[in-house]
Order: sequence, then C-alpha cells, then structure tokens
Amino acid sequence: MTTTPTVPALPDTAALQQLDAAHYLHPFTDHAALAQQGARVMVRGDGIYLWDSEGRKVLDAMSGLWCVNVGYGRRSITEAVARQMDTLPFYNSFFNTTTIPAVQLAAKLAQLAPPGFHHVFYTGSGSEANDTNVRMVRRYWDLQGQPERTVIISRRNAYHGSTMAGASLGGMTGMHVQGGLPIPGIVHIEQPHYLEHGAGMTAEEFGVHAASWLEERIRELGPDKVAAFIGEPVQGAGGVIIPPSTYWPEIGRICDKYDVLLIADEVITGFGRLGRWFASELYGIRPDLITFAKGVTSGYIPLGGVLVGDRVANVLRRGGDFNHGFTYSGHPVACAAALENIRILEEEGLVERVANDTGPYLKARFATLATHPLVGTADSAGFMAGLNLVKRKAATVHYQVRFDPVLRVGMLCRAHMFDNGIIMRAVGDRMIIAPPLVMTRAQIDEMVDRIRYCLDLTQAELKARGWL
Ligand code: PMP
Repeated sequence: MTTTPTVPALPDTAALQQLDAAHYLHPFTDHAALAQQGARVMVRGDGIYLWDSEGRKVLDAMSGLWCVNVGYGRRSITEAVARQMDTLPFYNSFFNTTTIPAVQLAAKLAQLAPPGFHHVFYTGSGSEANDTNVRMVRRYWDLQGQPERTVIISRRNAYHGSTMAGASLGGMTGMHVQGGLPIPGIVHIEQPHYLEHGAGMTAEEFGVHAASWLEERIRELGPDKVAAFIGEPVQGAGGVIIPPSTYWPEIGRICDKYDVLLIADEVITGFGRLGRWFASELYGIRPDLITFAKGVTSGYIPLGGVLVGDRVANVLRRGGDFNHGFTYSGHPVACAAALENIRILEEEGLVERVANDTGPYLKARFATLATHPLVGTADSAGFMAGLNLVKRKAATVHYQVRFDPVLRVGMLCRAHMFDNGIIMRAVGDRMIIAPPLVMTRAQIDEMVDRIRYCLDLTQAELKARGWL
C-alpha cells in the first residue's frame, strides 16, 4: 500500500449535485431547500482540514460530526482496516463465536473505562447503543425481581440518537412531533441550562436546583417505577450546554438515594474530548452504563456500544439469554479501526494534551471572542465550545437581548463561516465547535481569528439588513 495520500482529480460538482438531489435523502435535511442550493461535495481530508469538489480548503472545527478525534488522513487506520478486511472482513459473535479484534478491543476498553467497568456490548452506532441501554436496564430490573421498574428519565433538549428509542430518550421536540414519540416509558425533565433557566441564581445554586427536578420526578412517578436516568455529561447537539459544577454530584446523590441506574451518554464526550478518556471522570459522575460511539474509531468506521458497569454486568451474566444484538455487534473491521485509533490517541498523548495544554489554551483563546459586539457569552469545556449571538450585550447574562428566532441569525452566521473556510455549527443562535483533538495551538489561533472575522461579516450583514 502506498504511503503518499492521493489527491483526487476534481469531480464535476454540478453533475454530483444533480444526482445528489435526484437520489439521496440526507439525514435531518429540508430536501427542497437543499436541491435549490446544491450540496457541498467534500472530497478529501487531512488533519483538521477538508477540501471540497471545487478545491476549496476548510477548517473543520466540528470534527466531522463530533467524531474525527485523531483528525483526517490517518494512514495507519487505513492500513489496520485493510489488513483486517484481507484477513477476516466479517464474522458475527452471536452463536458462541468471537473475533480477535472484538476481544482485544473489549479488553482495551475495560482498561480505559472508569473503575468498576469490565464489560462492553457492541453496536453499530450511538443510537443503537442507547436502544441497548433501554433494553438492558429493563432486563436488569426484571432479573432483580422488580419488573415494574421500567421508566427512564431523560432531559429536554438532550440528544440520544434517531432510532425510536434513541429519539424518545432525546428531548428534541422537533423529532418527537414526527412519528408519535416518545415511546411509552420515557419521560423528560428540564435541562441544566443556566442561561435559560438560572436567572436570579448563581450557577452553583442553579446546578443543585436543576438536579432537584430529577428527585421531584422520581417521587412523582414512584421510585419503584424508575429504571434509570440518562444524560450527556455536556449536552452536545443541544448546543454545548455545560452544566454547573454542582449538577452531576447532586444527580449522583439522587440516583443513589432512590437506587436508580445512571447512564452517561458519552457518545460525544468519550475518547478524550474533555481531556479524559471519559468525561464522567471529569465531572465526578459514577455511571452504571456508558454509551459510546464516534470517537472510539474517530468515525473512520461506524462503531458504538455500551460500557457495562459491574453492577449491571454481574446480573446480566448470570441471567441467561439477553435477547438483543446486531449483525454488526463487534464488527471485526470496526474494532480493528478502534484499536488503531486508540493506539494513536495513547501514543500521541492527545487526551493529556487536551487536558493540560491545548484544552486550556482553547478555553483562553475562545473566551476572547466574548469581546465581540455580537457575542454574549463564549464558554468551553475541553474541546467543546459555544458562543451566543446576541442583539445587545449586558453584564448579567440573563439580561442580554436576543435576536428574534425567526431571523435565524445563527444560520446566517454559519453561512459566513462555511463560505470563509471554517465549519461551525449553529444551534439556534448559539455557534458551537468540537475540533479534532490533534488541533495545535497555532491552529487554535487560526480558528479563533477566522471565527472573529466571520463574526464581523455577520455583524455587517445584520446592520445592512437593519436587524442590528
Ligand atoms: N448520543 C449522543 C450524545 C450523540 O451526540 C449522538 C449523535 N450525535 C448519538 C447518541 C447518536 O449516535 P449515532 O448518530 O451514531 O446513532
């Protein structure tokens, strides 16, 4: 296999866009709008950069979809995948069989996981992993002689996937209205979003207050009906919502008090994004189950799963058949990609680098954006960050004046970013990033400079439209 990356000849963009519009139903997309505009065709990636079919280079501050932790173009992952494909491209683990990469990865994950985790259940995605959680916690309580403990409590504005159970666990109303969700047995409490709900309190006071909503709901439902609580350590798709430091310890106390299982959905936060292998360690979360996907392979090949803590694993392992699994559970090629991806993270010390060097540097540099006239707040945790676009700033965040949501100022800002060589995501008027963990200090400077430049362009456009 050659070691020089191949730069493909530029394809015919218009022809591809036409075929795309004619045949490809994209995820989470308004197809009429897309067909009118034409999809941007990405053709190549290297490090933190992508190139599109017109040859334009763009800094990918979103790591694809929160997943390309080791950056694009890692030859050694390609080689590990090719070797495994040559040797054994597929075999299942259903009927008392296993494969070498699936075993090796399980052992590796047990080593990286927080104390008390020694087992993994593999899936093909984060959504399937959260579906697995629903079935697994209900099976657990069944085996414990408490089959009526079925309800799972989640949070509004959470994202846990797009399958029936994943979307139900999620708290996105836009998803619930399509398809009659949530499915029975899943309820939601409010999210720990200080800016939205914390007026009149310090962030620390608000953290305890937001956790008390869980206790309230458990009491309403009856503790003997509640199977588990699920949450992302930092909400990702909801807009990089970083909870106050008091929130998770209090959630842990409440789950302990009522014997409710705790599920940490670390699909985004796992594998180094917050400077720990799992963010649970950072926030003092003591979960019983950890959902993972994305960063486990840096997205090179789809893989997800659930890390199963001893409390649940010991019961399941004695409980006879667990009638659940997927064709691609423990896919050997995906597991080989994960093993090489983890080897890179370890060899290059990327998790420690985010914790001690580039993470704090990103925090300091990103915070400087709060001086921009359009930016109300700019905050970060490890390699996740977000800023709020506001019409008028105020010293107290709860008094800042927002834009009318119908103006879709976030999307307008995102378009300037996209046209000027940087990918940022808009969640309403909150602009968010989650860059590849390989990003250097110099690249952080480049990213922050570009963001500031695009904020200037956004401000100029808003003025020209008379919206400012
Ligand atoms: N959980 C979280 C926290 C996620 O961010 C996502 C995906 N963005 C999922 C679950 C679902 O993962 P997938 O898209 O691989 O099904």
